[in-house]
Amino acid sequence: MPCPLCGDKGLTIRAEGPFAIARACECVARCQHCNGDGYVYERDERGYRFAKPCVCLRDTKRITFFNGAQIPALYADRTFESFEIDTSQKKIQSAWGHTNHFCLNFDKNQQGLLLYGNSGTGKTHLMVAAIRRLVLERARPIRFVEFVHLLSDMKASFGDRSRGQDLITPLVEVPVLAIDELGKGRGTDWEMSVLDELISKRYNTERTTLFTTNYDPTKTEGQDALVTHVGQRILSRLKEMCRWVEVNGADYREKLSPSIQIRSGNAISTKPAPQASPAERLDRRDGAHGVSNKPLHR
Ligand SMILES: [Zn+2]
Ligand SMILES: [Zn+2]
Repeated sequence: MPCPLCGDKGLTIRAEGPFAIARACECVARCQHCNGDGYVYERDERGYRFAKPCVCLRDTKRITFFNGAQIPALYADRTFESFEIDTSQKKIQSAWGHTNHFCLNFDKNQQGLLLYGNSGTGKTHLMVAAIRRLVLERARPIRFVEFVHLLSDMKASFGDRSRGQDLITPLVEVPVLAIDELGKGRGTDWEMSVLDELISKRYNTERTTLFTTNYDPTKTEGQDALVTHVGQRILSRLKEMCRWVEVNGADYREKLSPSIQIRSGNAISTKPAPQASPAERLDRRDGAHGVSNKPLHR
């Protein structure tokens, strides 16, 4: 019988304090392979015994990476499977497919994604679903950061250069960075310089960066154009660093039915993904990692 707490995923994810937190499930703490030692013993071809890390150690790494990602508690239950795909919303359906495909084919230093569209269309949900999959299934270290929070933290460290660098360095060095709500802020010269430093350094080291933004990167002027909020230089970098994916349609938050507001981790959307291959469909089934039943919506 599968573990009732985690569905045999080995870990559970819940909103705790400000973040979504992963913990080893009780069923893993009593690992039957290693009795909790973390190592199993095998013999090589000459008959010598050697210690090999147990499969449960992989969970320790996944849990450390997940908790290091600092995903806000609000998004603890966001997965590809909990994303309600309305087949009449072609752009959203296609964005789900692109983001899912991005994760399935993820490689080191891969080009990132920029998910853009009106607020409330599920961009952050998709980005968090991607983070979750890369961490839990591919064991990649990732950081999630809300753009305005980064700015306010940087502002608080203003005048203290080493503290400012302490904030920016982990974001430059993390293999995958996810920036939510790019362009939100007042767009002052100082804000632009913080963004420019971060993006230029990631660009130069070819590290993967994901973005969501309410502004349109394809427009050349106006308040809804991304270029108005980040400037031409950053926009040009974004063009090379990311694939731009439009996520536009009816307000996703209003469309969430009460049934999915209490959706459990093992539930999946019954609607097929756009052009999902059998392998992708299989992957969708495997993607759920025990989540809390807490209704968390935005
Ligand atoms: Zn369990
Ligand atoms: Zn073990």
